[in-house]
Amino acid sequence: MALDLVLLGPPGSGKGTQAARLTETYRIPAIATGDILRAQVDAGTPLGQRLRSYLDRGELVPDQLVVDIIRHRLSEADTEAGFILDGFPRTVPQAQALDAMLSDLQRPLDAVLYLQTDRQSLLDRLGQRHRQDDRADIADHRIDVFLEQTAPLIGYYRDEGKLRLIDGAQPPDAVAAAIDDVIRPLVGAGEAPKTRPTAS
Ligand code: ADP
Repeated sequence: MALDLVLLGPPGSGKGTQAARLTETYRIPAIATGDILRAQVDAGTPLGQRLRSYLDRGELVPDQLVVDIIRHRLSEADTEAGFILDGFPRTVPQAQALDAMLSDLQRPLDAVLYLQTDRQSLLDRLGQRHRQDDRADIADHRIDVFLEQTAPLIGYYRDEGKLRLIDGAQPPDAVAAAIDDVIRPLVGAGEAPKTRPTAS
């Protein structure tokens, strides 16, 4: 059975760190729209130049653009066993587009893990990174963008019964353990055969 996950959380909440770990553990690809967009910027294509203006200002790029990227990416064979979306969806229209895509593929999301983290922890962590858009004023703006445009997804996925709250302010290992507690029942660990074969 496929394991289809979304990591939801503000900038600096540790989505990338946890996505990397989940990829290792469950052997499913992590798909980070931020990484895909930055690769376009680095490639210096005309599209990349257009994207740069959004990324540098800490604004979201237009929905249609990221929806197309995700549609294309989810059609690749390595997503068959599942995927971890990191940084997508980020708006209600993106979430609706994802639901439509996955319903066509008859593979609804298994869970949306919301890494809840207080603003000061976020700013402290972002201050330690060295990405262009982690400059204090832009990082601050990105948190506002999260609160305005992405936080409505918390209610959206709660209504769908998919939301799982994780305390993202804990150290990475503790966050990972909390995520594992949520995922273990989803991957059928609870469906072990009643009589386990014993070594003889
Ligand atoms: P973080 O989670 O730390 O903010 P990301 O790498 O996920 O970092 O995103 C960096 C930037 O990429 C965002 O500020 C935004 O400009 C753009 N971006 C990433 N994902 C999306 C998305 N789903 N929709 C719109 N813009 C996005």
